[in-house]
Amino acid sequence: MLLDGFGRRVDYLRLSVTDRCDLRCSYCMPQGFKGYEEPAHWLSFDEIERLLGVFARLGLRRVRLTGGEPLLRRNLPDLARRLAALPGIDDLSLSTNGTQLAKHAAHLRKAGITRLNVSLDSLERERFQSICRRDALPQVIDGLEVARSEGFRSIKINMVALAGTTDAEIDAMVAYCMERRFVLRLIETMPMGETGRSAGFLDLRPVRERLRERFGLIDGVVPGGGPARYLVAPDGSFQIGFITPISQHFCETCNRVRLGVDGTLHLCLGQNDSVDFRTPLRSGCTDAGLEEMLRAALHAKPWRHEFRERPQQIIRAMSATGG
Ligand code: SAM
Ligand code: SF4
Repeated sequence: MLLDGFGRRVDYLRLSVTDRCDLRCSYCMPQGFKGYEEPAHWLSFDEIERLLGVFARLGLRRVRLTGGEPLLRRNLPDLARRLAALPGIDDLSLSTNGTQLAKHAAHLRKAGITRLNVSLDSLERERFQSICRRDALPQVIDGLEVARSEGFRSIKINMVALAGTTDAEIDAMVAYCMERRFVLRLIETMPMGETGRSAGFLDLRPVRERLRERFGLIDGVVPGGGPARYLVAPDGSFQIGFITPISQHFCETCNRVRLGVDGTLHLCLGQNDSVDFRTPLRSGCTDAGLEEMLRAALHAKPWRHEFRERPQQIIRAMSATGG
């Protein structure tokens, strides 16, 4: 079991397989962004498999593929198959914006991905386009329908709650998810990069109380639900999670770290502490050496983010970290 310096068990990795994306969500990637990692710096599938194999021997149990947009990385199902086969890894999931899901869903399911998170901020085509800066809502809806037919264990919709924008659509999104048995998660914006800082922050606590009343929901616990606080329908037919890093942070139960496409291990979303794993992977470091480095890195994991106290300090966008 891998414990950090505060005794928290870290068994979950969010693995960014690319920092590129086909959308430009206003709270995430700056328009005209050019600061991508060079392809020569991307960890290869062999390097990822080796590092995660060492991590799994230390206690890693769950991996989520993310990005950027992970479906832009060529042959992703091949990587998924290799990671699903690693001894110790018992949960492999994917976060995607859904634009290419229709094409890839069947291959991903066959490769061993069991759970999907799909970002969807709006069901109105124009609003979607103005937030994500591409007219891609029909592709995302199509991708979700194909994914539904592929039998994933769970499909969650991630909706970023933006004051004065998506807040008007929360009830419509609840109805959409209820009808399709999707789990809905509302997310508060985090001040990551200039884009994250300028997004309209919405405190989700009053939203949660309003939805509780309006839809007759009760407090619930969802296995594998991560840091979200859930409300559920009394008959279990619907679940909605609230990810509230700003209004009610959940750092005391943090169980995760993030690996960037360039092999940088980010120890906390809201701090700059990180460790470079690409150099040792490419300069003959042994598995025992990697193990030692992972233990030391985890030991240095910060206690909590300081998004409220120091909102200016994170200059990297979410897309560069593996959100
Ligand atoms: N491209 C994929 C997607 O959109 O699901 C995966 C990567 S994306 C960075 C992962 C999640 O981060 C998405 O649900 C997105 O809404 C969220 N996100 C991005 N920037 C954010 C910010 N500043 N605050 C809160 N959530 C953010
Ligand atoms: Fe791309 Fe996801 Fe960021 Fe949107 S949230 S710009 S889809 S990485």
